[in-house]
Amino acid sequence: MTENPFFESWTTPFGMPPFDRIRSEHFPPAFDRGMQEQIAEIAAIAGSAAAPSFANTIEALERSGRLLERVSRVFFNLDASNTDNAIEAIARDYAPRLAQHQIGVALDPALFARIADLHARRASLGLDPDQLRLIDRYHLRFVRSGALLNPEQKERMAAISERLASLQTLFGQNVLHDEQDWQLVLDATDLDGLPGFAKAAAAQAAEERGLAGRYAVTLSRSAVEPFLTFSSRRDLRRALWEAWTARGAKGGAGDNAPIIREILALRAEQARLLGYENFADYRLDDTMAKTGAAAERLLLQVWEPAKAKARDERAELEAVARREGLNEPIEPWDWRYYAEKVRKARFDLDEADIKPYFVLDNMVQAAFDTAGRLFGLTFTEREDLPVYHPDVRVWEVREESGCHVGLFVHDNFARPRKQSGAWSSRYRNQENMDEPVTPIVVNNNNFAGGDVAAGEPTLLSFDDAKTLFHEFGHGLHTLLSRVRYRSQSGTAVRRDFVEFPSQMFEHWMSVPETLRTYARHYRTAEPLPEELLRRLLAGRNFNQGFGTVEYTAAALIDLDLHRIAATEPFDPARFERDFLDRMEVPKEIGLRHRLPHFQHLFAGSGYAAGYYAYLWAEVLDADGFAAFTEADNAFDPELAERLKAIYTAGDTRDPMELYCAFRGREPAIAALLQQRGLAAARSG
Ligand SMILES: [Zn+2]
Repeated sequence: MTENPFFESWTTPFGMPPFDRIRSEHFPPAFDRGMQEQIAEIAAIAGSAAAPSFANTIEALERSGRLLERVSRVFFNLDASNTDNAIEAIARDYAPRLAQHQIGVALDPALFARIADLHARRASLGLDPDQLRLIDRYHLRFVRSGALLNPEQKERMAAISERLASLQTLFGQNVLHDEQDWQLVLDATDLDGLPGFAKAAAAQAAEERGLAGRYAVTLSRSAVEPFLTFSSRRDLRRALWEAWTARGAKGGAGDNAPIIREILALRAEQARLLGYENFADYRLDDTMAKTGAAAERLLLQVWEPAKAKARDERAELEAVARREGLNEPIEPWDWRYYAEKVRKARFDLDEADIKPYFVLDNMVQAAFDTAGRLFGLTFTEREDLPVYHPDVRVWEVREESGCHVGLFVHDNFARPRKQSGAWSSRYRNQENMDEPVTPIVVNNNNFAGGDVAAGEPTLLSFDDAKTLFHEFGHGLHTLLSRVRYRSQSGTAVRRDFVEFPSQMFEHWMSVPETLRTYARHYRTAEPLPEELLRRLLAGRNFNQGFGTVEYTAAALIDLDLHRIAATEPFDPARFERDFLDRMEVPKEIGLRHRLPHFQHLFAGSGYAAGYYAYLWAEVLDADGFAAFTEADNAFDPELAERLKAIYTAGDTRDPMELYCAFRGREPAIAALLQQRGLAAARSG
């Protein structure tokens, strides 16, 4: 085999992975050598004859596993953004091996003895606050992995971790395959109600699938949402809805029900081994919320007001539906369609009128310029760096002083072999232990491309533009990080705090200054007319009853799932039905994420018993942005400076402490209820 790029030091600018030279066959040997190297490093730390010190134990751990981290970051980012059969096979093969490797490190008794010794003596070691917190976090992480268990229990913990890694990999692959395998193939006569951009996207999707001259609606959210919103063909909306909600639940070898059953049982067993009653208690013990009860309390504070608001919304939808001759109840595949008609009647807003003003490139520029005004960053495109797909663009990020900050990689378009949804990740984290290391961040979206043949740009919906800003907020959390240790870098914060920097940044997308400057018509470059801008902002809270019910139901079912006793025989479909009945979830809304494709919960464990985190963080972002509103300046420099301190701190300080330093007090929920238009419903 030719030389393996993972075994060389990279000479690409700023440490960009040499994508032009990386082939799938390079991954297995690099994973193998990466694990071997770290095993040797850990053995040297754990077996050292020298008394434990911060430098020879904690800092040595920070230094270990460099090759493994480098290959893992490239591999898992490519697996999510641009996979193929070879990468999928390697993922199935290596996910359990990597899990076993990690748990092996965490359960090494000699290594833990050194960490425990340092932890016990930490106050007398003369350490800086970030170092003290780092010891605390290491100690807690090892304990939470099972370092205090007996050998037999440890063996069981290791077996569970390994099996969970396999199951989670399979879960995600099954969803991706179901998304690839299905499309609604239509002719020009089936497109009633669809605006031009949706027709163009469907034509392009058909062409990509070898169906030139026809139209294909795929199961990508950016294709599903517009079709459900605009198509006047109720039969087709229903067919699409049913296919969309059947992902992962089609029976046969790719069915996710048995996988969910086993994952839940293993997580419950893991929690019990560690002395917790259930997985939710275990998971939430290390969050801002601290307990499942606290998370649930917050969710229930919005649940009834949201349902009340959704009932009012449904009445309006029904009135329109009756006028249009629908004499049946509103179904989940009808809601978006009639909501759009109500929105049009009430605010005189038409998605098809708004979209031409939201050109992808302009909104990207808006995000860059906002980061410039708030935090002093500049972005310059680099076309000389290797990328893994022609869609991908790269920017160099600098401070105003000209100092290099990092790289920002943007991968915006939906593709068949790309995971759906939007996410932010890293190819490299910032750190400054032995030498300054600058971050490489990637933002993924799944926008439908513009009509390339007609030379038309990609147009976004208002929600797409918010998603763009959301992921960019995570990106800034990575880019602005100024920490010493990589374990504390950027987004390495508690799970229910990590959505704060991203959701906070969303607010700047819809401030009038941003919209006036960057929302320009793609043909004429005319700014969004003031009258349309006024109506757009007035309609911002529209349909929030629906949105809040959809989200909160998903967060509540997640907590419920992870609190059940593992002994119950688990049937996902029955669990969903019981949940919908018990919580009286409006049936015309239903579940946005049905369990068989709820990737946040089952394609990894990061958001398991953690989906509530978005609302938890929204309390903070609504309250936090209110500070700018109160100052009557969305770009108030002094507030921006204090906010920047949160983005730079990573996990070097307690999140509530960070928030209070920015806001001058603890967060209050009032702004959230206001933001979602639930304040009146709650008191009424
Ligand atoms: Zn996020």
